[in-house]
This record gives sequence, C-alpha cells and structure tokens, in this order.
Amino acid sequence: MPDKKLHKNDKSASAFFEIAVVGGGLAGLSLSILLAKAGYKVVLFEKEKYPFHKVCGEYISMESWKFIESLGFDLSKAGLPLIKKLVVSSPNGRFIHSQLGLGGFGISRYFLDNELKTIAIKNQVTLFEETKVNEITFENEIFTIKYNGGETTASLVAGSFGKRSNLDVKWKRDFINKKPGKLNNYVGVKYHIRCQFPDDTIALHNFKNGYCGVSRVEDNKYCLCYLTSAKNLKEHHNSIKEMEKAILYRNPFLKKIFSESHFLFRQPVTISQISFDKKSQVENHVLMIGDAAGMITPLCGNGMSMAFHSAKIAFENMDAFLKKDFSREVMEKQYAAEWQKAFKNRLKNGRLIQKLFGKVGLTNIFISIIKYFPFAIKKMIRATHGKDF
Ligand SMILES: Cc1cc2nc3c(=O)[nH]c(=O)nc-3n(C[C@H](O)[C@H](O)[C@H](O)COP(=O)(O)OP(=O)(O)OC[C@H]3O[C@@H](n4cnc5c(N)ncnc54)[C@H](O)[C@@H]3O)c2cc1C
Repeated sequence: MPDKKLHKNDKSASAFFEIAVVGGGLAGLSLSILLAKAGYKVVLFEKEKYPFHKVCGEYISMESWKFIESLGFDLSKAGLPLIKKLVVSSPNGRFIHSQLGLGGFGISRYFLDNELKTIAIKNQVTLFEETKVNEITFENEIFTIKYNGGETTASLVAGSFGKRSNLDVKWKRDFINKKPGKLNNYVGVKYHIRCQFPDDTIALHNFKNGYCGVSRVEDNKYCLCYLTSAKNLKEHHNSIKEMEKAILYRNPFLKKIFSESHFLFRQPVTISQISFDKKSQVENHVLMIGDAAGMITPLCGNGMSMAFHSAKIAFENMDAFLKKDFSREVMEKQYAAEWQKAFKNRLKNGRLIQKLFGKVGLTNIFISIIKYFPFAIKKMIRATHGKDF
C-alpha cells in the first residue's frame, strides 16, 4: 500500500496507517499512545475539539494511576486530590461512611483528556480533531475509514467511540435496538462547582430513579455529576432545573449542595440514551474498547479504569497481530476472551447494584441496614473494581 504522509490539516489527502483509532476519549487516546510508543503509524479521529467537558464523575479508581503515569503523564506533580473515603446517603437523608480500600483520585476530563492528547501528539500520533467518522468498511484485509472531508485506510481499527455513536446506529448494534428498560435510557448531567466538602471524600447521594456523585478535582473545583432515568426528566417537562428542584432536592444533602454551592458552568453538560446493556467486543473486525465495548454503571466509579485497561488489552493483541504472531482471527478471539475475563464479573455486579439503587423505599431500607455491616460495603466495592494493570 502507498505510504503517503497524511497532513493533519489536509483532509482531502489519502494515506495508509497501520492503525486507525476512532474516538479520542480515554480509551482511544491511551491506545493511540501505546501504539505510537511501540513505533506504529497511528491516526486518531475525534469529533470534538480539545479541550472539552464531558459528562463524567471524574473520580478515577487508583488501579489506573501507574498506567496513566506509564503513558507519560506525571500525576504526582498535578496536585490532584486523593480520595479515600465514601459517604452514601439515601433519598430520605440517612447516610453511611466507609473507607475506600484502594481509593482513587479526582481529575477533570477537560484536563486529563487534553494532557493525553498532548502526549499523543508528542509521540507522533496523527490527530484529526473536529472530525467525525461516518463509515468504516473492511475488504481484502484493509479498512477504509470515511470521515467528514475525506477517507483513509488502515490494517487495524479500534472503535473507541464511547457510550453511543453514529456508528453504533449505523451498524445496528444489538444494544441500540433494545426497548427502553432498567438498563438503558438514562440521562447524565454534570457541573463543576465550588463548595465546602472534604477533598478526600466522594459522596454518592441517592434520589428517586438516580444518584449524584460529588468529589474534588484539580484547582479546588468539585465535580457534581448525576445519572437518572429519562422518565424522571420527561415527567418534569424535560427541564433539568425543574427536575432537580422536584426530585433531587428531596434528599437534604443535595438540597444543601445545590442551594449553597457556586456553579461554574452556565449550563450543565448533558448526555442521554445511556445504556448498560451488553455489547460485543469485536464488531465488523473492529476491536471495540472503553464504553464502546461495554459500560459499567457509574456508581461503581471505575468506567475510566476499564477504558484504560481495555486499551492495554487491545494494544497487546494488535501488537501480536502486527508482528505476525497472531492471525486476525486469533487476535479478535483472544481480545474478546481477555476482555471478558477482565470485566465480565464487574459489569454483572455493577448491573445488580444499579437495579438496587434508584428505588426510594429500597434504597432507604438498604442504607439503614447496611451501616451495621461495614464489611458488606467493602465487599460490594471490591466486587466492582480490579487491580493495577
Ligand atoms: C453520569 C456518569 C458518571 C460517570 N462517572 C464516572 C466516574 O466518576 N469514574 C469513572 O471511572 N467513570 C465514570 N463514568 C464512566 C466514564 O465516563 C466512561 O467509562 C469513560 O469516559 C469511557 O471512556 P471512553 O474513551 O470509552 O469514551 P469517551 O470518553 O466517551 O470517548 C469517546 C469519544 O469518541 C468520540 N466520538 C464518538 N463518535 C465519534 C465518531 N463517529 N468519530 C469521531 N469521534 C467520535 C466522542 O466525541 C468522545 O470524545 C461515568 C459515566 C457517566 C455516564
């Protein structure tokens, strides 16, 4: 294949890359960096322009610390809050405290994704920002990637396009066609705020059909992010403010936070149609990573670690294919098997816990009982988390 250099600003040019990565969130950025560091020719497509805000609770489980540092981001110099304690409140205002075991740290996606983008560019990843991929086809062992303004080719493609994208709809992936139920049709809302709250603690406040996390990120800012059902919003004329006042404020902790904090965004960042249904890990020969391969419920607080970890597993298998140690078929099977081994149980436990939270009566009873069984809380946390990778 011709090896023409694709200039970043020349969107009409064509080129051949060893790997094309579609979606520049944590999974796509980290995979691109790993591949570029190993000497491969990588192109990364991201439909937005960095830096940008994303709906995310911005609490990262400590299992990712070493991995992020290995990519080239010196986290220890970034002045980030280390989070070691958890407070969970029920809709009626009862609460429990717990130590977090492994714990985590707080960092905004605005900052983290942008740092990783800088590292990707330093490592010679060809980045196409503000470029949406519309089509990926596979023929005669070659992928063709069509994007706004041009097309390119690659031997391998990683699908890191997040929770739900135009390509999921185009490919009619199974989770897209599922009827609205208990594991899909959620809405996410995020603000950055300034408030009085310990910087070593993450709070998880429950309300009818949802829960809201509060924890510190860099620059003495706090992330306030909640997940709720689309039904909750619809019942309040699709008005976020109206829903917050009518539903979230019933939890006294949330009422206090919303009434007393300084909100830094004029409008919250929002997303809809979030699904926790099962997904496939390989689709049309594309290795799916991060949320595109399967999304854990946010109350487990480790979707970002799963995004990083899945990128590492994909890297190892892609590397073996490019070195001709694996055929394409072996690479695809091996990736899917390793993904299942690493995440299947966590996702299952996350789905079970998701079903428990949200129902007002059940959550109230659960919180008032479980406070007498601290070991059970720790067990639940362990069941949804992994180890360093
Ligand atoms: C409400 C909520 C709270 C959460 N809180 C936490 C938390 O506290 N801790 C935690 O660890 N996890 C949390 N998560 C989960 C976490 O945000 C995700 O697991 C993580 O962002 C997944 O990363 P990703 O790279 O797979 O996807 P993303 O970060 O979503 O990146 C996907 C990227 O692909 C781009 N894209 C999509 N389609 C295209 C296209 N066609 N062409 C080009 N680009 C495209 C998008 O613009 C996006 O930048 C939360 C999730 C939600 C919904």
